[in-house]
Amino acid sequence: MIFYFSGMSFNLCLNLKNNNSMDRRVKELNERLQGRSAQEILKYFIEEYEGKVALGSSLGAEDQVLTDMIARIDKSTKIFTLDTGRVFPETYQTLHETNEKYGINVEVYFPNSEKVERMVNEKGINLFYESIENRKMCCDVRKIEPLRRAMADVDVWVTGIRREQSITRILTEVVEFDPINGKIKINPLLEWTEDDLWEYINKYDVPFNKLHEKGFPSIGCEPCTRAIKEGEDVRAGRWWWETPEQKECGLHKRKDHLKQRA
Ligand code: SF4
Repeated sequence: MIFYFSGMSFNLCLNLKNNNSMDRRVKELNERLQGRSAQEILKYFIEEYEGKVALGSSLGAEDQVLTDMIARIDKSTKIFTLDTGRVFPETYQTLHETNEKYGINVEVYFPNSEKVERMVNEKGINLFYESIENRKMCCDVRKIEPLRRAMADVDVWVTGIRREQSITRILTEVVEFDPINGKIKINPLLEWTEDDLWEYINKYDVPFNKLHEKGFPSIGCEPCTRAIKEGEDVRAGRWWWETPEQKECGLHKRKDHLKQRA
């Protein structure tokens, strides 16, 4: 019993030490990349962490811009998407058009079929509307577990997070350490506005999800995404029945959220 406790303490110390050195590294990287363009940030990581960088793409406008930038830098960079089984037909079309345009193969990760079967048979096909616990369970099964597999051999995770998207993203930095997945997370479009995005998409003829033209600025799973009305927050259509501070699926859980819970 004592031995077990000692072992736990040693691992805990080791983790804290590793986290502290990662925090220092992340601080250095933020200072080094301050004021750099999204393309420069991507190029830096693709070269510095060769073969260990991946874009987790939702095939939304931000990730399409990043895909275009990455394809211009190095087409062999890993780009993957999660097929939860509940996405819109327009999203599959965007996937097809993206692979065609850039001559790449966006890797598709699916959830574990046994876990989906068990969850749906026990809780119902639309369990997510019944409680936050059920919604998080569904996101865990359909998104988080496949994400872990997709990221297993990756050190740097590229995301399309923009600061103006929602209240949960205000404190985000360009480079962060994701202690849950143990990865460096980079947000090259952090300071981009909606106008910046569409200017880039039009200029470079980037394929985009046609739902963006129908009032969907942020696109996730079909049952959990609705079009927004004029003047609403861009993420108001995601999990619209929940309060704003709960609106993350766990893919972008922040360390300060963890601290608050602890
Ligand atoms: S967004 Fe909705 S359908 Fe998709 S994984 Fe989360 S709860 Fe399930």
